[in-house]
Amino acid sequence: MVMQRTPGFCALCKSRCGSIMVTRDGKFIAQEPNPEHPTGMSLCVKGKAAPEMVYNDDRLLYPIMRTNPKGSADPGWKRISWDEALDRIGNELARIRDKYGPEAVVIGLATPSGTSISDDIRWIERFANVFGTPNSANGTELCNWHKDKAHAYTFGRGISAPDFVNTNCVVLWGHNPSATWLDHATATAAAKARGAKLIVIDPRRVGFASRADRWLRVRPGSDGALALGLARSMIRNKWFDETFIRDWSNGPLLVRMDTERFLRVEDVMAEIDADGDDLLTIASGSAELVAYSAKTKAYARTDLQPDLWAETEVELANGGHILCRSAFSLYAELCDEYTPEVVEDICWIPADQIDATAKLIGTSGPVCYYAWTGIGQHSNATQTDRAVALVMALTGSFDIPGGNVVYARPPAFSVERPDLLSLAQQAKCVGLEQSKLGLAKNNWIGSHSMYDAILEGDPYKIRGLVGFGRNFLVNHPNVQRGVEALSKLEFHVQTDVTMTPTALYADIVLPICTAWEREALRVGFEGSDRAERLVQFRQAVIEPLGESRTDAFVVFQIAKRLGLGHLFWDGDVNAGLEYILKPLGLTLDDLRNKPNGISVAGETKFKGYLTDGMNTATGKVEIYSEVFANEGHEPLPRYVEQYLTLMRQYDGRFPLILISAKVVHYRHSQDRHVPSLRKRQPDPEVTVHPETAKQRSLKEHDWVGIVTPHGRARFRLKFDPTIHPLVVCAQYGWWQGNKALGLKGFDPFSSDGANFNRLVGDDRLDPISGGAPLRSYICEIEGLADHLEQAKIDEPEAV
Ligand code: SF4
Repeated sequence: MVMQRTPGFCALCKSRCGSIMVTRDGKFIAQEPNPEHPTGMSLCVKGKAAPEMVYNDDRLLYPIMRTNPKGSADPGWKRISWDEALDRIGNELARIRDKYGPEAVVIGLATPSGTSISDDIRWIERFANVFGTPNSANGTELCNWHKDKAHAYTFGRGISAPDFVNTNCVVLWGHNPSATWLDHATATAAAKARGAKLIVIDPRRVGFASRADRWLRVRPGSDGALALGLARSMIRNKWFDETFIRDWSNGPLLVRMDTERFLRVEDVMAEIDADGDDLLTIASGSAELVAYSAKTKAYARTDLQPDLWAETEVELANGGHILCRSAFSLYAELCDEYTPEVVEDICWIPADQIDATAKLIGTSGPVCYYAWTGIGQHSNATQTDRAVALVMALTGSFDIPGGNVVYARPPAFSVERPDLLSLAQQAKCVGLEQSKLGLAKNNWIGSHSMYDAILEGDPYKIRGLVGFGRNFLVNHPNVQRGVEALSKLEFHVQTDVTMTPTALYADIVLPICTAWEREALRVGFEGSDRAERLVQFRQAVIEPLGESRTDAFVVFQIAKRLGLGHLFWDGDVNAGLEYILKPLGLTLDDLRNKPNGISVAGETKFKGYLTDGMNTATGKVEIYSEVFANEGHEPLPRYVEQYLTLMRQYDGRFPLILISAKVVHYRHSQDRHVPSLRKRQPDPEVTVHPETAKQRSLKEHDWVGIVTPHGRARFRLKFDPTIHPLVVCAQYGWWQGNKALGLKGFDPFSSDGANFNRLVGDDRLDPISGGAPLRSYICEIEGLADHLEQAKIDEPEAV
């Protein structure tokens, strides 16, 4: 018997836990933690179930092609060779590109936070740019857009890494790392054990909520109001870092009350020696206007302090007079509307918890935080993210030890290369007209825009989709329209490890191997300085099963067939990886010889903004966003009520708030086919307060229907006396059966199924990001007739 233990990392989710991959006689038998690795202290149940994912009857092992028209009950899958598949894909993409332009093809990408596409995503993104399409559908509007891109409108960068090791206070806001990011969970537990304070803001008492110093059971979707209320308390009680806000936010800059834009040198009568488009503030204790240059990120006078609370009348160059106020005073005035009593009314959090929590956040410093989909899947998600970001700005903990830190990363070459996509093509991104600040800014397309373009030709017709694992029909809202749209595509190829509801609509489905059957290069892990510096090359521990291949193989081969091989190292993936490593002075062989990885030297310089400023329009933390105002959005993060508006719209017929949550045992819509995981969580569940069930004569473990204005789906009832009686939390991602356990799947397209995403439409999307209210919708629950309790389907067969 030959046992081999190979260091690697689990690629299943964002945690990317360092692991030891164990084989016996050439068979992969276990994945274990690797405590030597900076993210390897433990593995979750999914990581431990890795061999069951590899050796699973549901795996796709050969390329297949549909032989029956879309919409047929039986797609008539026929096994084809890779050459046949790739030739047809190349021909179809070339046909669409040459006839309609490359923008008529969407590149779909699964999330690197919850699939192992992270091994190859760089190549897919490069392919989109090289091919020439500005339309990549990566689901970011449901996942990371708000914490990364909305956050950048405030801080100039996406949410940076919480320094759990040095912090005095951890804030988890709409982020349950126990279910989504094991390394964050481990680090949070360690920080708590060390004595750091812990604040959890979540409608559910899950994860760290029961161990937190403060758990705020926020009403789903009202986080923006809570953030303004906490900020009010911090400002009024002076529990904030006034020096940081004065020096490093745009709070002191004057805003014209007539135009709601910043006052500029060219606007005023006074003679000021500065560029015309420089901004202005008032010096504390005097009436003197002082210029501020967003280019140099400096005030013209360093001997005077800008006034955070300025309010003044200014004489304009045309002789008129206007009132101007500092951005900070406008923000404070907005916050002032959110007294503890108002917040209690909106957010259902007792008023006395607001000041107490604000004090903890404002006086415990340094504070680090993380906020994710819990505040991102709402109709008001962008402004909510800004409101939360500003609470954290008030702490002054940005980029200091114990705060949220910008760690140095190994300076490897990037191959994604957005610059390879011409500006003319970028301007064609679908959705750009609707939101210049949203997804289209990065050449990303939301599912709602994609469906519109396919079905309505708005603004032009999308005709092709190359879907790398993105399973639209069980992860995005408005499933019904999604089905209609996918049915109309001229050509659709999908890659995945197993068959999926989305792949059912494809013309060709390509089999992708699991992470343990392929090599992968990772430059920098997340979570700590040590992790960020690590470069590791994971070995394949077994050969790919059947004819499964990597997404990188697919990309490189299609590129060759499109005449783009020269931009893909003539099909040699490893040559591309060597290119990435070049600036580090490393080769793949160096890394093969050090399977635990190589730590690359680099220095994390805290407070990088002291030299570089913030990467925002004003070069400071943007309390007031003129960028938003210029596009017709609120420059301050004003809270917009959603639930009550919707409730009234439907005359109270849907009185409950529907939220969704990730199942800790599964990654989004995957993994139900894995026996050990399915045994832990056999059925889709909905959690309610026992009183809510009693009022409707429902018993625990009953199958119940959730009904919304958009549809119906069914779940098994579970009680939780800690959830608010008006909140209903259902699991998403259910469709798959489990052959080993003899469990059939749930029809993802039927009211008798358990597809959560059938319950939410795309009619109430965030106006900037297109984010959907998957965590704050309206619903009712009801008992089900017996025949529906049994309705399950046979899963689509893989070949
Ligand atoms: S948390 Fe679990 S699934 Fe994610 S990388 Fe770690 S072991 Fe893998």
